[in-house]
Amino acid sequence: QAKAAGGNTLRFFNQDMQTSLIERANLEADLHHALARNELALHYQRQVDHQGVTVGVEALLRWYHPQRGWVSPATFISLAEENGLIVPIGYWVLQSACEQLAKWSNQAPYAALTISVNVSSVQFQQPEFVRNLEGLLAQTQAPPGRLVLEVTESLLMREPKRVRNTMLKLRAQGIRFAIDDFGTGYSSLSYLKRLPLDELKIDQSFVSELLTDRADAAIVDTTILLAVSLGLTVVAEGVEKKEQLDWLKGHGCYRYQGYLFGRPMPIENLFESY
Ligand code: C2E
Ligand code: MG
Ligand code: MG
Ligand code: MG
Repeated sequence: QAKAAGGNTLRFFNQDMQTSLIERANLEADLHHALARNELALHYQRQVDHQGVTVGVEALLRWYHPQRGWVSPATFISLAEENGLIVPIGYWVLQSACEQLAKWSNQAPYAALTISVNVSSVQFQQPEFVRNLEGLLAQTQAPPGRLVLEVTESLLMREPKRVRNTMLKLRAQGIRFAIDDFGTGYSSLSYLKRLPLDELKIDQSFVSELLTDRADAAIVDTTILLAVSLGLTVVAEGVEKKEQLDWLKGHGCYRYQGYLFGRPMPIENLFESY
């Protein structure tokens, strides 16, 4: 395009773009050290049932950059996926979650809680993924039945046979699977019957306009019916208002996650009220 315009490519490369590319390169360099320098943390957000009782938590990664402060996963996860750092970072997340599960496993109110972990398709597709995760479970003594792996529709569409095999092996250990951000990816619904799934998470983009947008309401309603008839647990993400909660409850969704119940926070803050 630049050539066709008769110019050199730099004419499209304005100061802003240059700055943001340099920014990105700097951020990437810093991300290489983030693990070793202890700058990563896991925050946890509660998931509640229809009575408001906490039934599990989702682990959400946070990066505290010494100069920039908190960097959002929306910024650094994609970077980490591009350069492969998501693999060691992802194992760190899984290890931390397993350690937490093991700690809870003999403490009465906590022993029943699940921890959901977002797993990048880059990590999931590694040939060693099953072996490594089994190693983590053995090493930490975490109860596998309390671990939920959140995967995306795009992973399920990629190399479906291999992904299915990986899931079956992990399922045999007791690990559960959730589809994250359901309805936002390109997908065929046939994977819902082929794969060992346990949970479907309705994306927050549908929940947020639920009360005002008829199309969103229809999508959420249909998703709930689909999940229920397939025997899957359905979790609504991004629940912020009491009215959204009431609507969801009235339409057969009994599990929720969102600011209405609590923001992601360090685990010791999450359960100070227990
Ligand atoms: P996600 O897995 O869909 O996580 C839910 C996101 O929604 C989180 O954003 C959470 O803070 C936010 N959220 C929760 N309740 C509400 C609400 O009521 N309103 C609104 N507006 N937002 C709410 P966060 O923590 O910024 O994470 C963004 C995404 O980054 C996650 O989306 C997930 O895809 C990815 N991510 C986070 N941690 C990890 C990780 O450990 N590994 C991988 N691979 N990805 C991660
Ligand atoms: Mg998630
Ligand atoms: Mg989500
Ligand atoms: Mg998401």
